[in-house]
Amino acid sequence: MRSIGILGGTFDPVHHGHLRAAIECREKLKLDEVRLMPVNDPGHRNLTIANSTQRLVMLRMASEISDGLEIEDCDIHRDGVTYTIDSLEELRQKYKKASLCFILGTDSFNRLHIWKRWKELINYAHLIVVRRPGHPLDPEKDQIRELLNQQQTSDASKLKKQTSGCVYLTEVPMIDISATRLRKIFENKNDPTGLLPQTVIEYIKQHDLYKKE
Ligand code: ATP
Repeated sequence: MRSIGILGGTFDPVHHGHLRAAIECREKLKLDEVRLMPVNDPGHRNLTIANSTQRLVMLRMASEISDGLEIEDCDIHRDGVTYTIDSLEELRQKYKKASLCFILGTDSFNRLHIWKRWKELINYAHLIVVRRPGHPLDPEKDQIRELLNQQQTSDASKLKKQTSGCVYLTEVPMIDISATRLRKIFENKNDPTGLLPQTVIEYIKQHDLYKKE
């Protein structure tokens, strides 16, 4: 069965933490590919600083560093506030027989209840929950714990036998960096070298992104 990993996020900007997490998951779970899926307008968060086009351009540059990294642009091309569930539904329509593995950090999983129709996510994809430094697994709601209790598997082969429905917890080596910290680095005119691809650094500088107001 074809297996597609999807790492959703704002990617404002994309950084090596995202890229390594995607690559490590692809290799560890032996996924055919991992797609970085930028969200258009994340309703439950503040608006992004870089616009959709800029975030997409940075992602395209970043994805060139590895053959197994692709971009999934179905969410960013939808109008208005967009939700992961709609993108997963759309992808499921497109890839009826593939295993879809939606990758998210523990920080996002702990607060899954704020996502639209969050309980239905596993009808369309597996959830791959990756431990993120500084964010232990600690769901904020009992209902998320219940989802874990009911759907968690430690058998990675199930992710290839079923197209969706499992919650799989994993640990991959991670870089302790966030886009929030990077935006501060750019704001303060500090040196971001090593935290994101050089091509993306150049793009941010050329377009004066993340400057102090
Ligand atoms: P921000 O600081 O703006 O909240 P972020 O760096 O957390 O941004 P997002 O675009 O929100 O980046 O993250 C997209 C996904 O990537 C989320 O599931 C998040 O948990 C995960 N992620 C972000 N940073 C890392 C990292 N350093 N290592 C592993 N996963 C990460």
